Amino acid sequence: MTTKRNGKIWIEGMENALSGKLSSLDATNSGGTPTPIAPILPDIWVLKIGGQSIMDRGRKAVYPILEELVAARKQGVSFLLGTGGGTRARHAYSVALDLDLPTAMLAKVGASVPVQNARMLQMLLAKDGGIMVYPDDFEKLPLFLSMGVIPIMSGMPPFEFWEKAPAVGRIPANRTDAGVYLIAEFLGAKGVLFIKDEDGLYTDDPKKDPTARHIPEITARELLDSGQDDIVVERAVLEYLDRARSVTEIRIVNGLVPGQVTKALRGENVGSVIRKEPATDRIPVAAP
Ligand code: ADP
Ligand code: MG
Repeated sequence: MTTKRNGKIWIEGMENALSGKLSSLDATNSGGTPTPIAPILPDIWVLKIGGQSIMDRGRKAVYPILEELVAARKQGVSFLLGTGGGTRARHAYSVALDLDLPTAMLAKVGASVPVQNARMLQMLLAKDGGIMVYPDDFEKLPLFLSMGVIPIMSGMPPFEFWEKAPAVGRIPANRTDAGVYLIAEFLGAKGVLFIKDEDGLYTDDPKKDPTARHIPEITARELLDSGQDDIVVERAVLEYLDRARSVTEIRIVNGLVPGQVTKALRGENVGSVIRKEPATDRIPVAAP
């Protein structure tokens, strides 16, 4: 019922909607467990094509992956492709850092390179239905997917000038790994695959330490606590995964190994999984 309070139009119950009732609704349901989140597109996979790890290797690395992806799409697997930046983004960050520019400016500058990579993939996939999508196109994804297209977008989250300073230094904490994970979490996706150039996670960077052992499965918390400073995915992803509500695991696969992407899309256990929940088979990560 509409009345007036202090001269303003007032709807009975409005105060409750914005105070106590709303916050208790948000926190828990009556059983004390987190309230469920509606899945938006639960059948979609969200994939990231690595920037440095894949794109920068050129045709030899990129073409076979695209072939696997097109074949999967033809078999009815739906996915959204996100891109990384790689060496050109790192170069732009270095120049901007040297010029004493702030994090938000680095985020703005760094956003251009994954767009370049997305544009290149889109043209390569055009004949198979590749289309560029932008954050505003999320609302059109159901249409695109029903038409059998392959939506491609930059993996960089659109924070740009609004990017917050990271805990350490000035390089934006949310780059393309984080952006791709956040898309998947928002959509309530079927899964997230990070397509890179190693068979997943190791006890140390296998490019620097040839004795590093493969870790098939680990929790985000264990990895955060392990002290590894140069991990296979951005640290922000592990932090988001630790408080995930929809997508509680990510998989890292080796795009340079033929068939690995296809196997992962079939649900096979390849590469490494980083989960929110405790891993069943823990392998301790070496101290740095
Ligand atoms: P992208 O271009 O996909 O963002 P990055 O080059 O940023 O990929 O990250 C992947 C790289 O991370 C791998 O090529 C590997 O050399 C490195 N790396 C560092 N630490 C690890 C680790 N513990 N396990 C696996 N890879 C690691
Ligand atoms: Mg990276």
